[in-house]
Amino acid sequence: MAETMPAIRKMSAQKGLELQEIPIPKPGPHDVLIYVEAASICGTDLHIWNWDDWSANRIKPPLTLGHEFCGTIVETGEAVEHAHPGDYVSAESHVTCGMCYQCRTGQAHMCPKTSILGVDREGCFAPYVVVPEQVVWQNNRDKLTPEVASIQEPFGNAVFVAMNQDLSGQSVAVMGCGPIGLFTIGIARAVGAKAVFATDLNPYRKELAKKMGAHAVFDPREDGDVVERMLDGNGGYGVDVVLEMSGAPPAITSSFQVVRNGGQVVLFGIPPGKVEIDVAEKMIFKNLTVSALNGRRIFGTWYQTRWLLETGVVNVDPLITKTIRMDEVNDAMDLLTSGQACKIVMLPNEGKPHELSGKKKERRADPNITAGPMHH
Ligand SMILES: [Zn+2]
Ligand SMILES: [Zn+2]
Repeated sequence: MAETMPAIRKMSAQKGLELQEIPIPKPGPHDVLIYVEAASICGTDLHIWNWDDWSANRIKPPLTLGHEFCGTIVETGEAVEHAHPGDYVSAESHVTCGMCYQCRTGQAHMCPKTSILGVDREGCFAPYVVVPEQVVWQNNRDKLTPEVASIQEPFGNAVFVAMNQDLSGQSVAVMGCGPIGLFTIGIARAVGAKAVFATDLNPYRKELAKKMGAHAVFDPREDGDVVERMLDGNGGYGVDVVLEMSGAPPAITSSFQVVRNGGQVVLFGIPPGKVEIDVAEKMIFKNLTVSALNGRRIFGTWYQTRWLLETGVVNVDPLITKTIRMDEVNDAMDLLTSGQACKIVMLPNEGKPHELSGKKKERRADPNITAGPMHH
């Protein structure tokens, strides 16, 4: 195997990314080395590319980006027990400590010591990545293409939001049709929501929302009073469940207007600053249930994600805009910025499967074993 590889890295505290040759990482005793087949670009990567305030505070260059991927394990550390060379895997991007109160009570997604791939530690925008065995997730090669397997991580965010409450037979509003909002529309339909309304300002995304099964899609700037239209669509009562996926302050305000008395609002989109809200009128007197969610359940959400994607109950193909080579990453960031793309998937090994990928294994990987002892 070669000694070095190209990687997409943030080299200094400014806009842009560079393709740099770095040593292929070596797995530690509890780690696996993965040949990356597909890695999808996330809004987080766009923030880091842009070098906004959040990135400037969080990211310590030099750093290889990328946290959504799939690939083939090519090497395992000597203490690794459940993962094997040849396994087709993805990974939970949040590496958690396993020992804090949250980790030990089944809430690892809130671990205060979380270290995120491509944010706090070396990421997957490279032909190889090293991750701890603890975060490895086994995929079925015959059921998920690399493109789809790579987006399980962000899809899991949508699953977490949609499955937070029972949507069957409910009217649902999805505020904001970025990739995770769009996934959420498909999941809401799949679990039997009776009506799914969506909002977005971007015609390209509105079109995708329809493809994902939204019954009606509104642009707050063009379609008049969206609040009124949603109330009309629900006998004047308002919608049962609002999923706020945009983080845009006007959409957050609307969320508390369109929800019916006794309904539910889930806040997932991250606003750029403080948001004012009339707690008495819009929350207490309406008897609302309000949730604020971040991340995914580790690994409960991954099992639900597997079911939704492997069975085709939710078809995400319309949301995978294109695949790219590593050297096209800056163009991909421009395209994402233009709003004319949803998920862009990078093929760091140019779509070539690893020689271990097709190899018959004596022991088929147990799809239920996904993590080290800390997460069982
Ligand atoms: Zn992401
Ligand atoms: Zn922890």
